Amino acid sequence: MKITPIIGLEVHVELATASKMFCGCPADHFGKPPNIQTCPVCLGLPGALPVPNKKAVEWTIILAQALDCKINLISKFDRKNYFYPDLPKGYQITQYDQPFGENGKLGKIRIRRVHLEEDTGKLQHEGQQSLVDFNRSGVPLVEIVTEPDFRSVEEVDVYLKKLQRIIRYLGISSADMEKGSMRLEPSISLSNDGSLPNYRVEVKNINSFRFVRMALEYEIKRQQKEPHIQQTRGWSEAKNATVPQREKEEAHDYRYFPDPDIPPIRMSNEQLAIIKEQIPELPEAKLTRFVKQYNLSQYAANILTDDKNTADYFEEAAKLSDQFADIANWIINKKADITTLVPAQLVEQIKKSQTAMPVDKTALEQAIKTVLSANPKAVADYKKGKTAVIGFFLGKISQAVKIPANDMIRTVLERMLNAR
Ligand SMILES: [Zn+2]
Repeated sequence: MKITPIIGLEVHVELATASKMFCGCPADHFGKPPNIQTCPVCLGLPGALPVPNKKAVEWTIILAQALDCKINLISKFDRKNYFYPDLPKGYQITQYDQPFGENGKLGKIRIRRVHLEEDTGKLQHEGQQSLVDFNRSGVPLVEIVTEPDFRSVEEVDVYLKKLQRIIRYLGISSADMEKGSMRLEPSISLSNDGSLPNYRVEVKNINSFRFVRMALEYEIKRQQKEPHIQQTRGWSEAKNATVPQREKEEAHDYRYFPDPDIPPIRMSNEQLAIIKEQIPELPEAKLTRFVKQYNLSQYAANILTDDKNTADYFEEAAKLSDQFADIANWIINKKADITTLVPAQLVEQIKKSQTAMPVDKTALEQAIKTVLSANPKAVADYKKGKTAVIGFFLGKISQAVKIPANDMIRTVLERMLNAR
């Protein structure tokens, strides 16, 4: 019998707005002394009134648009009631049945909803006592929920990296896992026939892509041995395993109701169009364009577009010289420190290195081609990131052209490797 994992994902992303979601306290809380960025609103004191952060609403809509969601023209905030010490009001302001975005997609993964809520405080357990820091309380938090469309751990990994890239391109969050600004909650069940099972196991609050992979792989093994029950679990780094947490509460336990302090938010199609104009060229589109416009390999274009600043840097340099492959190669292989050189200086350096070329370029390229074709395994190793094989290639090439390996040979070699 073939067992198929059925996986869905909830991703929480802290927005990098200047202030919190419903008050004027600074939103950037990482590494700050405890409880210095609080006020009556984010401490939940009686009588304090929330005022929604316009920028946070706009950024949530931008993200939802970038994920091809339908944007609700009328959206509202609701109260999700539960008791926990990191939640001073006894409820969290979130969105229940009218989120900003619904029914989107990223690749072939369907996005169920994109909604905006407030983050909770942070608990810290020290020996016998628990401390709470409210600096994070009320920080704008976007939740991106997929349909259970993943059928393998690899698909989850690809989606997460794509999503993180898009968020960074939009400039709405650092999406930095180590700082907790991107947090992941996969849910997984196993199916014998591909249909949706009647249970699911949710793994809460994971803070790295690697741990998501490990947690899912662990669950696939565990659920093949243990009975299938609906459960909430956590990832234990110490045990390298998922461990049971409190049972999943049904939605009605939270007693959702519209927040009476915050009027519904109405958007016009004109307003949505203006917001949409702010979406820059997204990573996938940029990658495709780089391959076409600059004649780069998929591999090189992928690295260059991983981060928007690097992509912009490349394009600045490419305006000054049409040696696109060489520019790409210098940036990818860190042959110059692009944090200290402006693009014009990089182009200058590349030119200089080429005039110092000791051998006939055509002969060199032919020799490299022969060596690469004769060693497909080493080429494959290089593509997997084993850059040590460069030394092996240089040895073979310098034998062939009968001069010692030098920087120039290395440059041409790396360019040709990256173009493969
Ligand atoms: Zn505040």
